[in-house]
Amino acid sequence: MEKNQIVELQIEDMSDEGLGIGHTKDGMAVFVKDSVIGDRLRARIVKTKKAYAFGRVEQIITASPDREKPVCPVARSCGGCQVQEMSYPAQLRLKESKVRNNLQRIGGITSADFYPIIGMEDPYNYRNKSEYPVGRDRNGRLIAGFYAGRTHTVIDGRNCVIGIEENQKVLDAVLGWMEKYRIPEYSEETGKGLVRNIMIRCGFATGQIMTVIVVNADQLPHEKELVQMLRRTLPKEPLKPENLQAASLDTPAADLEGNVPRHMASIILNTNKARTNVILGRKNRTLWGSDFIEDSIGDVRYQISPLSFYQVNPVQTRRLYETALSLAGLTGQETVWDLYCGIGTISLFLAQKAKMVYGVEVVPDAIANAKENAKLNGIGNAEFMCGKAEEVLPREYQEHQVHADVIVVDPPRKGLDPAVIGTVASMAPDRVVYVSCNSATLARDLALFEEKGYHTEKVQPVDMFPHSVHVETVVLMSRVQK
Ligand code: SAH
Repeated sequence: MEKNQIVELQIEDMSDEGLGIGHTKDGMAVFVKDSVIGDRLRARIVKTKKAYAFGRVEQIITASPDREKPVCPVARSCGGCQVQEMSYPAQLRLKESKVRNNLQRIGGITSADFYPIIGMEDPYNYRNKSEYPVGRDRNGRLIAGFYAGRTHTVIDGRNCVIGIEENQKVLDAVLGWMEKYRIPEYSEETGKGLVRNIMIRCGFATGQIMTVIVVNADQLPHEKELVQMLRRTLPKEPLKPENLQAASLDTPAADLEGNVPRHMASIILNTNKARTNVILGRKNRTLWGSDFIEDSIGDVRYQISPLSFYQVNPVQTRRLYETALSLAGLTGQETVWDLYCGIGTISLFLAQKAKMVYGVEVVPDAIANAKENAKLNGIGNAEFMCGKAEEVLPREYQEHQVHADVIVVDPPRKGLDPAVIGTVASMAPDRVVYVSCNSATLARDLALFEEKGYHTEKVQPVDMFPHSVHVETVVLMSRVQK
């Protein structure tokens, strides 16, 4: 097979990256971007490897019944939503079977109860955080959006359909301010210029919006004007109940259901002078409003700073945490460890039903947030430790013989360090709840737990990221009585 050759394919499967997979007559696998399982198509080969090739859709002969026109006009070039051309029910089926296949194939998990995936009723505008690099289009107009796959070229994507609708207004205000005062955008290529990124975060339950302007400097010219323009774009802060009478058109109050209109609550200047593609620098200065925003999930309230990790889909996060809580089977008597606890989101959720919760997390800022969050909620039965789970847990177990009835883990994509699995097994909790964003490493780890006397009982996938290929899974393991 060679470059530019046209092959006819039936798309039968999808890779972890969201590429459709078909086979040529000679059995060679071809990965095709923007194709959907069930498509019959002609693909142009763009790259060949020994055992497989990559292709682009040249012509769709028969469209898959699951194919849909993406809502977003730039879905293809963006790459953020790998499967937006697939109907939402088909996306959910795909994710469910991906989890099941990985667990069976990699982990040898066959006897667990696999529950149907929990999807969203409305799979749009769900992200509470969006990050937009700033650049110029071909006509030299300032734009904000995303990098076109593996380049430094910014493509306009201000009205991203998975972000909140307010993003566009905020972006327009910042770009308007840049135009007006001739503030230069940063160039990744030259390392020169000022404004790198605009990050917008929203507490869905509180309506509070934080705008973070990431710049290649410590100061900004015309900071005051930026603040003014940003504050003018959205409704003002909602009124306190006692001032409801005074509500006017531009100061909306909570409606009868208590929904608070979205409003600017915090404007932050973040300094990032490093020549990397890491978005945020370490240094923040509050230009206006609060240093953090607040949100709540269920009955727990959280403070979120610019650098804090926080789940991006609050609607599904609540379902994820409720699943974790119910699988943990707490009665109020248990000692629980929550490893990779971030800002203590799961820990505080569990603390409402446990005797004591210990959270472990490697990022110091997140631990500081977790402690504040415990205080904010008046939760006295949660303690947080900063450090690597694979160091803190073995140390606490060996030196202080700490005990756990239930252990919850929520590691990053690479999964658990074997030292964590070893120590968890030695501590012999009755139940282990594994929250995973990568079903391949989850499957690998479950197999190790099975060797150490834990049986995988329940598997609940949750769709935290509609239109992407990612899927979150909560698993319950129980200790096999010996
Ligand atoms: N449970 C939290 C966060 C999960 S994300 C929530 O639901 O919000 C995974 C977290 O693991 C991140 O906060 C990351 O900083 C942390 N982390 C990464 N490597 C770690 C390690 N080796 N030990 C402890 N925490 C780690």
